[in-house]
Amino acid sequence: MENHPGGIYLSQDESLGIFVAHEFHIAAGNIIDKVLAGAPIAGPQPDRDVLRHLSKIVGKPTAQQDENGPPVVLSHVEALHFEAIMAQFRLRDYLPGRIKRVCPVDGTMAIEDPVYLAQRAEHIQREYDRNIFINNVTAQQRINSGHTVEGLARMFLAPQKPSLDIVCPGCGGTKYDRFRVTFCPECQNRREEFLLVECPDCDHDFVASVREHIWTTGAIALQSFNVSYKYSAVINAVRDLDGYARDRQINHLLGQITADTGIFHVARCRLIDNRRRDTLLLLTTDGICWSSKRLGFFTEDGSLQWEQVASVSENSNGGDDFRLALPDGRTITFSSFTGNEKALSIGIPDDIEL
Ligand SMILES: [Zn+2]
Ligand SMILES: [Zn+2]
Repeated sequence: MENHPGGIYLSQDESLGIFVAHEFHIAAGNIIDKVLAGAPIAGPQPDRDVLRHLSKIVGKPTAQQDENGPPVVLSHVEALHFEAIMAQFRLRDYLPGRIKRVCPVDGTMAIEDPVYLAQRAEHIQREYDRNIFINNVTAQQRINSGHTVEGLARMFLAPQKPSLDIVCPGCGGTKYDRFRVTFCPECQNRREEFLLVECPDCDHDFVASVREHIWTTGAIALQSFNVSYKYSAVINAVRDLDGYARDRQINHLLGQITADTGIFHVARCRLIDNRRRDTLLLLTTDGICWSSKRLGFFTEDGSLQWEQVASVSENSNGGDDFRLALPDGRTITFSSFTGNEKALSIGIPDDIEL
């Protein structure tokens, strides 16, 4: 599956920005689509033309993007709409999350705390595991003391697992419709709307309460996107070269990348100093780094800054080897390259010859 760098948005004067990681970018697109489809809103109704315009951009990977954008520059009114969408993620984090449970047969309603429900399920499972254990010990003890039939019967008739179902007091049913709800921090009224902008009961401004967590400076947003873009390009190149690359290997390569790193290419070789090591290499403007697959105890990860390398020679034995000489005379040779190396050429300064 291809890795995407996410989206980058700037305010009209480009002083403020939002970098949106891919998962949130997709989720934000879904929120806009749901609002356009009529999901209920707490507060003033958004301008649907503005939302329709945003829905064409948000959540979609932009074509012709490079590591410097181009960012989407939002008009003032677009920025207000977009921040209301992005605010929903923050609000979900900090407002209490509850589930409204409604019986479809008789309309009986209750509010559930999903955290409590998870704890209850865990508690029931633990009790059950304990009962099974005690039952087995008792059964074994009966068998050992000569009551074989009773013991075996006990073992096979293990206690039944208790049901997690909640029985409706009105109709005895166990099927419900469930909706996410929360509570206004100012008037404490329950809010059932999908999009929280302003509390209809007390005018509490939900979006303003998290605004400082949404925007950064335009420069920081661009830098975050720049790094994310390089990460995505390297991850995609690595997966192309080696469908079974380990996360640990990829993380080692990504660890070398900053906003200032220019990326030449990613390659894969089978030998380091003639020892078998299935290795991924990343060549950047700063240096070279490599990470091998773990073979037994051997893991061969490393990196060298170019200033630590005395010389580089290629194909010295007429093969495809690539040898780095260190100032102290040691060398390290990578050879038996496999697959086509993936030239990325991201963020290479103009004065560097390839
Ligand atoms: Zn019911
Ligand atoms: Zn309120």
